[in-house]
Amino acid sequence: MSEQREAGPVRTTCPYCGVGCGVRAAGGPEGAAVQGDRRHPANAGRLCSKGAALADTLDDRGRLLRPVVAGQETDWDTALDAVADGLRTVIDRHGPEAVALYCSGQLLTEDYYVANKLVKGYLGTANIDTNSRLCMASAVAGHKRAFGADAVPGAYADAEEADLVVLAGSNAAWTHPVWFQRLQAARKANPAMQVVVIDPRRTATCELADRHLALAPGTDAVLWNGLLVHPAESDAFEADFLRGHTGGVEEALRAARASAPSISAVAEACGLSAAEVAAFYAAFAANERTVTAFSQGVNQSERGTDQVSAILNVHLATGRIGRPGAGPFSLTGQPNAMGGREVGGLANQLAAHMELTPDAVDRLARFWETEAVADEPGPKAVELFDRIAEGRIKAVWIMATNPAVSLPDADRVRAALGDCELVVVSDCVARTDTTATADILLPAAAWGEKDGTVTNSERCISRQRPFRAPPGEARPDWWIMSRVARRLGFGRGFPYESPAAVFREHAALSGFENHGARPFDISALAGLSDAEYDALEPVQWPVNAANPRGTARLFSDGVFATADGRARLVPVEAERPAGAGSDGSLVLNTGRVRDQWHTMTRTGDVARLSEHSPEPYAALHPEDAAALGLADGALARLANDRGEVLARVRVDVGQRPGSVFVPFHWSGPFAARGRVDALVAPRLDAVSGQPASKHATVLPEPFAAA
Ligand code: SF4
Repeated sequence: MSEQREAGPVRTTCPYCGVGCGVRAAGGPEGAAVQGDRRHPANAGRLCSKGAALADTLDDRGRLLRPVVAGQETDWDTALDAVADGLRTVIDRHGPEAVALYCSGQLLTEDYYVANKLVKGYLGTANIDTNSRLCMASAVAGHKRAFGADAVPGAYADAEEADLVVLAGSNAAWTHPVWFQRLQAARKANPAMQVVVIDPRRTATCELADRHLALAPGTDAVLWNGLLVHPAESDAFEADFLRGHTGGVEEALRAARASAPSISAVAEACGLSAAEVAAFYAAFAANERTVTAFSQGVNQSERGTDQVSAILNVHLATGRIGRPGAGPFSLTGQPNAMGGREVGGLANQLAAHMELTPDAVDRLARFWETEAVADEPGPKAVELFDRIAEGRIKAVWIMATNPAVSLPDADRVRAALGDCELVVVSDCVARTDTTATADILLPAAAWGEKDGTVTNSERCISRQRPFRAPPGEARPDWWIMSRVARRLGFGRGFPYESPAAVFREHAALSGFENHGARPFDISALAGLSDAEYDALEPVQWPVNAANPRGTARLFSDGVFATADGRARLVPVEAERPAGAGSDGSLVLNTGRVRDQWHTMTRTGDVARLSEHSPEPYAALHPEDAAALGLADGALARLANDRGEVLARVRVDVGQRPGSVFVPFHWSGPFAARGRVDALVAPRLDAVSGQPASKHATVLPEPFAAA
């Protein structure tokens, strides 16, 4: 293993968000120093508040230091035997469909690769999914429908080169701060650049906006359908591009006209003025160099995939894709959501972006030299935990995530884990709502100790390098899984002694039998020596014989990854999700604050990160607050038939009437009462399986202590 080095500084990658900033880090248990890496293309030395506080999070208190089996600390051999025996027993009794893995966008690509190989290649089930399902699965599904592959077409630099940047469902100022800093700098350098924010809330991102379209929740598809109709009627379609490189425009237009027949109809449906809509459409028509960056506000919906398709349709119809300063751009939530997708981290795909087709299953079986490759898609995140609750999955291994807090219907998830026959949790943190349900706990190495790669939102593969020794007995995830695989009798498939060996195999698979004709191809990296892997500079895939130095933009030649090389416009029927009830209930919009990460397991104890938003809050419009008798600063109880949370009231004119925003971070020791995801119904996008985390309903009321 190459998990420990001399004190740095080393060049590594921030573990918090999909911007994937480079950092220079040094130090050990006595203290660490972290600064932005000027040589990294994502950030050129910039950091946000979370990245700048990374050194403060390197605190070994609270770490899981030794394996634990049935409540007793033990050694690795005993724990690994217990995991392997437990999985084998369940499989022998109930078959492979009774076991599952649930992973995380925090895992490195090498970890993810081994997890998928073990489950889909050797256990013979596709029961493996990831918390990345919660943040970008709708974007993945939209990309596949339009481009024939899960491939983000552009690069960060496109937003800097654009004349119009549209941010749809994205509070990038808080969620992708360094990308936003780059946009701010570009805007300063190019005063003609226009920025439009489409979001029901007035967020910090709106401070950069020329226009803020505070549309009604769930009406995005109508707005974008109207934008497809508008250039058609004003003759602004790119006729040559449409004719030569796409299909489906007539069907997409027919559907768009049905929901968005006129600007006034769009305005009425979206709760905007006709002048606001017309001004946005005019700005779009006037600026060929347009980037639309979209994120959770688009993805986390029952119609998330359709909303993504509506955006992609407009970019395809206007030929604004694959060119400098133009393209749709999915801002990915987690640091390695993209890397997980590369190796089959989603239950409905195989490694190397292969679908679960007979050809791909056969190709993978020959590459991995196994006969057990799964040939049916597995359950997506929420469905996977449904199967645990139903007793169909009897053993689950959870890695680097806290689903008892972060999944919808979180109380039911926690109860299901409590009743599950075997729960194994690998984590670097000892106490979370999820580790509390574990029969076996495995101490995992954390950021600063791990060695491998991650891929950010612009397809850039970067190294995470270690600069401190793991405390106690903590080990890398790929090592843990390989050792369990060997105990299960799969030793030949899991000979790995270093992350470099895993990466080389992953890279070789991406080009195996000309599979590399598809966009995801990093076969030029398959021959890296250990030293070359160690020194690998950030590079955007594909990295192959045709593009040995990587690729900034995809589809520049107008050839897409579909069978006929044409992109597809997809008809989008705009249906609104259920809104607030007549009992005063509001639409619950869950999201993030600037300085916390996920369920606060890393950031919750850092004083300077807690100052910005020190406690759970619920932001309401003044009209709603008055109607509900809620004063600014008072405590509110927010409840529905699933549960309740306590939060501090923030009266906020930037909040759209009829809605309430509550951050999802607070849980465990940090929450006064409840976890907000316990209030979110498990309603899913039918295509992507992504939960609608922004469209629950909840009734706030003043809290009176008993
Ligand atoms: Fe880390 Fe994201 Fe901040 Fe960059 S923008 S420093 S990757 S949290």
